[in-house]
Amino acid sequence: MEAKRVKLYVDFDGTVTRRDVGNEFFRHFGGELCDRLVGEYRAEKMSARECFRGEAAAMRKFSLDEARALFAQQDVDETFGALVTFCRENLIDICIVSDGLDFYISEILSARGFNDIRVFANKAELLPDANGLLSLSVHFPYSEAECDRCGCCKRNIMLTHSGEEEIIVFVGEGYSDRCPAEYADIVFAKDALQTYCQEQNISYFLYTSFADVVSRLTSLMEARNFHKRRNAELKRREAFLAE
Ligand SMILES: [Mg+2]
Repeated sequence: MEAKRVKLYVDFDGTVTRRDVGNEFFRHFGGELCDRLVGEYRAEKMSARECFRGEAAAMRKFSLDEARALFAQQDVDETFGALVTFCRENLIDICIVSDGLDFYISEILSARGFNDIRVFANKAELLPDANGLLSLSVHFPYSEAECDRCGCCKRNIMLTHSGEEEIIVFVGEGYSDRCPAEYADIVFAKDALQTYCQEQNISYFLYTSFADVVSRLTSLMEARNFHKRRNAELKRREAFLAE
């Protein structure tokens, strides 16, 4: 079965959700300083880990209810359920790879009935004070020692969790999706990631919602047209040799 050989890795912020929930979360409780820190991070003046720690330190204490109220306002691509169903029916492994926080990703997914999707992200530790108000400490279980651009190395997760025979499919849109796009066989891109793929000559499929992803994967499956991308294979080989 062709479909068994496909692994699907999906970005969360701006891909599953319409907006960047991480940025909204930090801005909501930490104010403008958090935007400035993200700006410095994007300008490569600080690492992702420094940025997260700075943002966490800038936040006022908050209650779980306040955080949940914010998460409940977040729009999720209404065709995400169709993608999950498609993956189940075709025995495609789907997981979320995010340089955001596991805390809001799990909250948002489980509030919408997607409890069993595997999530790889930075780890939010919520520390309650005597009144039950929370402060945040961020941990980086998937960081890469040799590179500090991201807190959570999507590339390593894809390489570690995909067999050599498997076709790696990646769906993303933003800054932390540029690196994994280089290592994926099939890339679905929009927004900033689309621009990056054009600049870097990475072949990609443009999508606006997961309905486009489902429809494209369906036709690739029907045509038995899943192929490894040569440049991605070379990049993966290089990464393994560098280990
Ligand atoms: Mg994103």
